[in-house]
Amino acid sequence: MKSHATARRLVLASGNRGKLAEIQALLAPLGAEVCAQSEFDVPEAVEDGDTFVANALIKARHAAALTGLPAIADDSGLTVDALGGAPGVLSARYAGEQASDAENVDKLLAALDGVPQAARAAAFHCAAVFVAAADDSAPLIEEGLWRGRILETRHGTGGFGYDPVFFDESAGCAAAEMTQAQKNGRSHRGLAFRALCAELAERWA
Ligand code: IMP
Repeated sequence: MKSHATARRLVLASGNRGKLAEIQALLAPLGAEVCAQSEFDVPEAVEDGDTFVANALIKARHAAALTGLPAIADDSGLTVDALGGAPGVLSARYAGEQASDAENVDKLLAALDGVPQAARAAAFHCAAVFVAAADDSAPLIEEGLWRGRILETRHGTGGFGYDPVFFDESAGCAAAEMTQAQKNGRSHRGLAFRALCAELAERWA
């Protein structure tokens, strides 16, 4: 396992290459170098928190503990009002531990079968956090929220997860019908990470 420690080197507690590229682009102007936790052979953390913030902190502290570097992590998911906030922190595993995106969407559409449009309100949530070290008692925490509603059928081919059934009223289309830039501009993850980067810029000024 590698271990580095320079002022602006950070580890991202995620195995997702798309997220890494996005966060690298956001933090590059601050002189930060963002490494993937896979470069350090960090195994996945056990995400057993009850909230998005709790799970993001679990992931960040785990990566910081195993690399000795400051860490950034996020946790995200979908909450649906008519389902009492489900699937929530279980969004990735809604239809089972190894469920595919397609299986999760199928389960969601079945759970909302017969629920009228007006009662299909939902929101994507993202918690983005920064810890200076594994035992950081004052982590930076930002949350992003994207409101919409769940469609009755899939629309579009872009994005991932629940994007084909998540309708944004102001854009007038599903998340899976947006370009990446259009989605980043309004998404829960875009909002949370832009806010986190603003906080880091202030801290490092
Ligand atoms: P995680 O933050 O990578 O653990 O993602 C949790 C799960 O929430 C994903 O597997 C998706 O099912 C769902 N999710 C989070 N963000 C999005 C999004 O932007 N679009 C669609 N689904 C999402």
